[in-house]
Amino acid sequence: MKQIILTGDRPTGRLHVGHYVGSLKERVRLQNSGRYDEIYIMIADAQALTDNAEHPEKVRQNIMQVALDYLACGLDPAKSTLFIQSMVPQLTELTFYYMNLVTVSRVQRNPTVKAEIAMRNFEASIPVGFFCYPISQAADITAFCATAVPVGEDQMPMLEQCKEIVHKFNSVYGETLTDPQIILPQNASCQRLPGIDGKAKMSKSLGNCIYLSDEPEEIRKKVMSMFTDPNHLRVEDPGTVEGNPVFIYLDAFCRPEYFEEFLPEYSGLEELKDHYRRGGLGDVKVKKFLNRVIQAELEPIRERRKSWEQRLPEVYEILREGSAAAEKKAAKTLARVRHAMRIDYFENDNLLK
Ligand code: ATP
Ligand code: MG
Repeated sequence: MKQIILTGDRPTGRLHVGHYVGSLKERVRLQNSGRYDEIYIMIADAQALTDNAEHPEKVRQNIMQVALDYLACGLDPAKSTLFIQSMVPQLTELTFYYMNLVTVSRVQRNPTVKAEIAMRNFEASIPVGFFCYPISQAADITAFCATAVPVGEDQMPMLEQCKEIVHKFNSVYGETLTDPQIILPQNASCQRLPGIDGKAKMSKSLGNCIYLSDEPEEIRKKVMSMFTDPNHLRVEDPGTVEGNPVFIYLDAFCRPEYFEEFLPEYSGLEELKDHYRRGGLGDVKVKKFLNRVIQAELEPIRERRKSWEQRLPEVYEILREGSAAAEKKAAKTLARVRHAMRIDYFENDNLLK
């Protein structure tokens, strides 16, 4: 069986370091592993419109921003197909058929949907399209016959829902759809990176992000303003490392060689954590170190982004060609779906049979 990846991001803002450690870095690693036959990376504009119906301009503007972030991180159009969701209309048709295989109460139980409804104050006025987005995500995944979906932990309930739809479809209409596997980052701190404000998730919608395109001074300010252990008031106080965003970021970003380069008095992260727990290590010192680590990680990405910013017509062509290729692939799946459902009436006079 072909090994195929499908994953993507909503163009609701530029991408941030949560996306990077949670999904982008993993995608680039998988892309370069040579283990995958096809890789599809989707800019999910139709999904972004489900909670931004009144702000199509915002979604439109961010399509190029997300594409630039992709290229900056090392997604390579020669190896990965980058495309725009709404340019593949087959996805909408698949969604419509899959909706019949899912109950309202099942979507209501989806914990990510629940959390997002609360975050957007949608309780009394949920747009139907927003409510159905897990189903449209199942259409995205299955349209490309994805075997692997590299995403952050917040996407686990979506993958479960997708698998249920696959099983239901296959049992009702016959073996047609591919069952996908989720690929989470191995490093637990990367699966759901908290915001700089200490909130459970760094998210474009919460405005608590360090963006991949932030300038060095902006990054420094954000790191120095980060939430830490609220009980660690004086340097001598013992501090807590668990759940402390500064240490979670170090877990997510720090490589052993950064100690030698920026903080040689410690042998590594464990020694730094022990000192913080004992007391006598100030937040400012840890944050300064974290700043240098993040700067070192983001500098090459920012530089590559700037070079792509000079070549926007090329980026446009990458998306145009990628969307055409994606449509071809999705059309093949849709034809198989229609055949399985026996609604391919005009193929070989099927309606007469
Ligand atoms: P929005 O607030 O518009 O939903 P978002 O910041 O949650 O935006 P998405 O486009 O929904 O970003 O998510 C894209 C991908 O990035 C998904 O695979 C998701 O799991 C991953 N991701 C997003 N935020 C984080 C995070 N803080 N930590 C780890 N992974 C994340
Ligand atoms: Mg999200």
